Amino acid sequence: MEEQISRREAIEKLTQMITPDENSSSENQTNLEDPTTKHPKPPFNKQFQPFPGLASKMEPVPDHGEESYVGSGRLKGRKALVTGGDSGIGRAAAIAFAREGADVAINYLPDEEEDARQVIELIEREGRIAVAIPGDIRDEEFCKRLVSEAVSRLGGIDILVNNAGHQKSNESILDISTEAFDRTMKTNIYAPFWITKAALPHLKPGSSIIGLSSVQAYDPSKDLYDYAQTKAATTSYVKSLAKQLGPKGIRVNGVAPGPVWTALEVSGGQTQENLVKFGDDTPLGRPGQPAELASIFVQLADNNASFATGQIYGSAGGNGQP
Ligand code: NAD
Ligand code: MG
Repeated sequence: MEEQISRREAIEKLTQMITPDENSSSENQTNLEDPTTKHPKPPFNKQFQPFPGLASKMEPVPDHGEESYVGSGRLKGRKALVTGGDSGIGRAAAIAFAREGADVAINYLPDEEEDARQVIELIEREGRIAVAIPGDIRDEEFCKRLVSEAVSRLGGIDILVNNAGHQKSNESILDISTEAFDRTMKTNIYAPFWITKAALPHLKPGSSIIGLSSVQAYDPSKDLYDYAQTKAATTSYVKSLAKQLGPKGIRVNGVAPGPVWTALEVSGGQTQENLVKFGDDTPLGRPGQPAELASIFVQLADNNASFATGQIYGSAGGNGQP
C-alpha cells in the first residue's frame, strides 16, 4: 500500500514537471512585444547625409535584424539577388534570406561600400555565399552584367528583389529638373524593367520576384510628385507581370511600406521638418524599422506562399493602402 502511494506521488510529480502549471506557463511562455514601444519614436534629431547616405551613420542606427532575426530554414538552398541590399529594407531582406538558408547577392552604389561590407559579413557568418556587386542600375548594360554575375557566382537565381530606389522631396514641381526626374524614373522604373528582363531566362518555376511599392502609390504626398508616380508604376508592373508569368510558375508580388527609418529618408527623401516627426502620424506613433518588414520578403519568396501572386503586402503602421 505504502509503495503504491509513493508510486502515485511520483507519477503526479512527473506529470507536473511535463505539464507546467497553467498560470506560470502562460507567463513564462508568452513573448508579447508592444509595437508602440518596441522601436524608437519621434522626435528624431535633424540629420542630413548626401545621397545615397549610410545606414551606419544614422542616429539612431536602423534595426535591420542584425541581432534579432532568427531563421528556420524556410529558404534553404535558394539564391537571391537583392538590389539596394546594403542598407534599409533591402538589407533586412538580405539578412533574413541568409538566416533562412539562402545564398545572397547584393547590389548597391560604390559610395555604399561600408554598409555593404557589413551585410556581406553577416551573410557569410551564416555559412552562405555572399556576393557584392556594386554599380549604378541607371545603366542598362550594368543591369545585364549585374544579373549575369549574380547568376554565375551564386550558381543560379530564384529570388529577385527589385528594392533599390531613389526618393527626393521637392516642394514644387518647378524645383524638379529634367535630370532629377530622370534619376527617379531610371532608378525606380527602368532598372527593375532591365533587371527583370535579364533575370527572367534564369528563373525556373517556383521562383519569386518582389517589387518595392509604397503607400505613396495610393496616397501620394505633395512633395513626392515624381517618386509617387514610380511607386504606382511598381504596383502596376507587379500586377501585370504576375498575370504574364503565372502560367510559367513564377510569382510576382510587391511590398508597400509606410514610413520606414532608412538612409533614403535622411539623404533628401524627407524635408528636415518631416524627418524630426517621421512616423508620428501612424497609429503606432513611430516609423517602422527595416527589420519589421523582413518576414514579409521571406514569406513572399517561400514555396509555402505558392498561391500569392500579383499581391501587394502592406506594412505601414496602421495608415495607408493596401
Ligand atoms: P535605402 O536608402 O536604405 O535603400 C535604397 C537603396 O537603393 C540604396 O541603399 C542604394 O543602394 C540603392 N540605389 C539608389 N539609387 C541607385 C542606383 N542608381 N544604382 C544602384 N543602387 C541604387 O532606403 P530604403 O528606404 O530601404 O529603400 C528601399 C526601397 O523601399 C526603395 O524602393 C524605396 O522606395 C522603398 N520604400 C521605402 C520607404 C521608407 O519609408 N523608407 C517607404 C516605402 C517604400
Ligand atoms: Mg544604402
